[in-house]
Amino acid sequence: MRPDILNPLFAETDTLEGVGPKLKKPLEKLGLTRLRDVAYHLPERFVTRRAVETLDEAGEGEQIVIAVTVTEHRASGNRRAPYRVFAQDSAGNVLVLTFFGRASYTAKKQLPMDAKRWVAGKLDRYGDMLQIVHPDHVLEEGGETLGHLCEPVYRLSEGLTQPRVSGLVEQSLAKLPDLPEWIETHQLDKEEWPAWSDAIKLAHKGEHGKARDRLAYDELLANSLALMLVRADNRKRRGQPLMGDGGLRDKLDLPFEMTGAQTRSIREIEGDLAQEAPMLRLLQGDVGAGKTVVALAGMLIAVEASTQAALLAPTEILARQHYETMRKLAEPTGARVALLTGRDKGKVREATLMGLLDGSIDIVVGTHAIFQDKVAYKNLTMVVIDEQHRFGVGQRLMLANKGKAAPHVLAMTATPIPRTLTLAQYGELDVSKLDELPPGRQAIETRVVGQARLDEVAAGVERHITTGQQAYWVCPMVRESDFMTEDIAAAEARYAHLAERFGKDVVLVHGQLTPELKDAAMERFASGDAKVLVATTVIEVGVDVPNATLMVIEQAERFGLAQLHQLRGRVGRGAEKSVCLLVRGDTLSETARERLALMRETQDGFRLAEEDLRLRGGGELLGTRQSGDTPFSVASLDQITKLLPVAYADAQMLMEHHGGLDGARGEAARMLLYLFDRDWGVRTLRGG
Ligand code: ADP
Ligand code: MG
Repeated sequence: MRPDILNPLFAETDTLEGVGPKLKKPLEKLGLTRLRDVAYHLPERFVTRRAVETLDEAGEGEQIVIAVTVTEHRASGNRRAPYRVFAQDSAGNVLVLTFFGRASYTAKKQLPMDAKRWVAGKLDRYGDMLQIVHPDHVLEEGGETLGHLCEPVYRLSEGLTQPRVSGLVEQSLAKLPDLPEWIETHQLDKEEWPAWSDAIKLAHKGEHGKARDRLAYDELLANSLALMLVRADNRKRRGQPLMGDGGLRDKLDLPFEMTGAQTRSIREIEGDLAQEAPMLRLLQGDVGAGKTVVALAGMLIAVEASTQAALLAPTEILARQHYETMRKLAEPTGARVALLTGRDKGKVREATLMGLLDGSIDIVVGTHAIFQDKVAYKNLTMVVIDEQHRFGVGQRLMLANKGKAAPHVLAMTATPIPRTLTLAQYGELDVSKLDELPPGRQAIETRVVGQARLDEVAAGVERHITTGQQAYWVCPMVRESDFMTEDIAAAEARYAHLAERFGKDVVLVHGQLTPELKDAAMERFASGDAKVLVATTVIEVGVDVPNATLMVIEQAERFGLAQLHQLRGRVGRGAEKSVCLLVRGDTLSETARERLALMRETQDGFRLAEEDLRLRGGGELLGTRQSGDTPFSVASLDQITKLLPVAYADAQMLMEHHGGLDGARGEAARMLLYLFDRDWGVRTLRGG
């Protein structure tokens, strides 16, 4: 149970003044559903503005505050096109104020014709005029007070403004409870860290490195503790020891020799399965490293022991692909493999459910449908989770309640993770690494081409598909912006452009399509019906289409190394030689240059992951969204590198000297688990 003292932090956002159903949505989009989330929505950066009399005093890119008079409203017929308000400064210079989407309503209200207003924001160019896109402030008076002030800049979503978010943050900060301290006094003194509530308040006020470090440390400590609790709990659990006699594995009829890494991993899995404590193991291996047969060998051990195994895939398509592969591979062994997804209905579904219950199905492959309440197993003892970074540890734990005894869990991921992050992300798991690719793999030819040659690239794609092969075309994030719609718009524009050339041969996939539409487009591509797949990065984890042998990545300099590597891994899966074209913009930073050079140089995912961390540690992407790559929302990569080893060691101390989380400090640390949504760690304490 959550300690009562934390309740104010877990009130929903609509308990804040001014938040109704209309604001709740955009807040949710940012992951802000409770006061706690709002308080921890730390600024991306701070701005200091300069108050100027006229635009002549200001330059492009500058953050200013200026008094203007509204002279014209210019709406456009198109819903997607921006709404523009024209204004003049005291010298008659024109300033354009630009609004996208729903922000235009606010613009109409706040900037009536002929009104005099103070506006604050960043100047940039619009044709031969200056503009501010989405001013941070529009005030009737008092603009002076906004000049020379250090002001937080928050990540937004459509429908939110900076002042709105600031106001909500203020409100939630006023409600922070007085929590007991979980960090030892001498450590606080040594690091010069503020107390928890001070740290949060300071982190919203300015660049307080100490405050932010403390908050990051808290998060890393919470994560380490939770993982250790899970691990400790797992040691106490009882699973079913599985002894396979090798009878089924011997019948596998593989057209290749296992690599050393595969053999080693299977041996490690076999060792775990023989124990009573349930296996908790991560199988880490780059795309194409051969994880599938390793997983199958593991599942066959369960079947040899006359029990059942399940393979859980993150999407419908992946489930089907895995099912086909597993069914074919397992055929000579006689093991019976079935598919179960949310799409199965009626008789087929009934038959599968019956087979799982009476044990006539040995291995089931599917989406999370395989763990619904209505699905009962005769004796499920092993679960394989594919691309498990999509599932949280909490979900992994839920699976543990399906079988009679806790099932053995093998998680697989194709994302090579730097060593430091492995600890953070999978600290509760043992790790098997497939660090050796099967022999005879063709290298993917990687070339970097300039943006100016985009037409040649398109012509190249056309030649390519006339040979019967397929191609991916990846559009980048337009800018790390508050308005995702711009990314989608860019991908749609590119799609329209390519559709002129390729007609119905091209399909579009992006993050805002419904799952049905996305699946439909993916399926057209997977079946070979569509030749070119235009996508935003949603294909990162995804389909296996060996016939797709060309990958075009636009504005490749905007992607991180790990991301580029994942994308490139979509090709190079068939017999034909594959090519990856990295299309680069005109101006590149030093780090961007280095990234592209590395991509050309190596295909080793583990090496790229380490380099990625090194390059990003340099801070290039600081302030941009990182949560996709790490399980943390507060701690940056820098802070993870610096503070995780400390937090991990401290968590170990706490576990050893405070008997789990007993005692005063243990009680305090317990708060922390709730604060960072690691309460699944606490639940294990109750033997759940
Ligand atoms: P991933 O790790 O990405 O899941 P897969 O298991 O899909 O990789 O394997 C990729 C391809 O490599 C498959 O076609 C598989 O049959 C093949 N493969 C797996 N192991 C070996 C091996 N030891 N030697 C040669 N080919 C292999
Ligand atoms: Mg795979």
